Amino acid sequence: ARTPLMAGNWKMNLDHLEANQLVQKLAWTLKDMKHDYSQVEVVVVPPFTDLRTVQTVVDADKLEIGYGSQDISAHDGGAYTGEISASMLTALGVTYAVIGHSERREYHNESDELVNAKSQKAIAAGITPIICVGEGLDVRKAGDQVSFTLAQVEGALKDIAAENVAKLVIAYEPVWAIGTGEVATPADAQEVCGAIREKIAELYDRETADATRILYGGSVKSSNIADIMAEKDVDGALVGGASLQADEFAKIVRYNG
Ligand code: 13P
Repeated sequence: ARTPLMAGNWKMNLDHLEANQLVQKLAWTLKDMKHDYSQVEVVVVPPFTDLRTVQTVVDADKLEIGYGSQDISAHDGGAYTGEISASMLTALGVTYAVIGHSERREYHNESDELVNAKSQKAIAAGITPIICVGEGLDVRKAGDQVSFTLAQVEGALKDIAAENVAKLVIAYEPVWAIGTGEVATPADAQEVCGAIREKIAELYDRETADATRILYGGSVKSSNIADIMAEKDVDGALVGGASLQADEFAKIVRYNG
């Protein structure tokens, strides 16, 4: 069975001092709720400048909260100003990397080829990619959300072996539902998440498809998460705004009470 995963993408919010406070508060809140991390996995995805601080808090308090980066370089190292390599991230204990978020696809022109190259670098370093896919409003209005998203999935997974696909995470984030308060209905989420799983079964096999975790993202809150999680192919959420408040994110993690 797939362990649900709740990942909080902080985006470009919180400096390292604020990161320290949020991670500690989240850990305390979940402890109060007697959270069992083996039942629902918890990951925070802070800006690069916060990762060292998050590592220090997690190590010092032996927290079971995982942490990831918001991007990863497709290069190993060298003359790539502004880039952060997989080995730099593993040195900080990073175990997840969000790759191909729609904001990077839109503002940094990231292509499926680049998302694929970055995913391969992450896997080679032992970092689990959280590969983001999802359609914009025009595509949704045309009713082409499934074919559009599946093309992104196929591009992102090119030349990645089944054993690695089974371990990675795909996040379906319809762009029109990100930061807009416009949450996709549970049926909308299931339609595309289910299609992604069938695509993996077609590209690989059923066993691989049944192992891959598929998240929903886009205006997730404590008030709508339970209904979304009730869908059979949704294995968790990639949460933006609502992950910046410890109480709210903890309630999302504890969606099943
Ligand atoms: P919001 O939860 O703020 O809509 O953001 C979703 C998202 O983009 C997470 O990666």
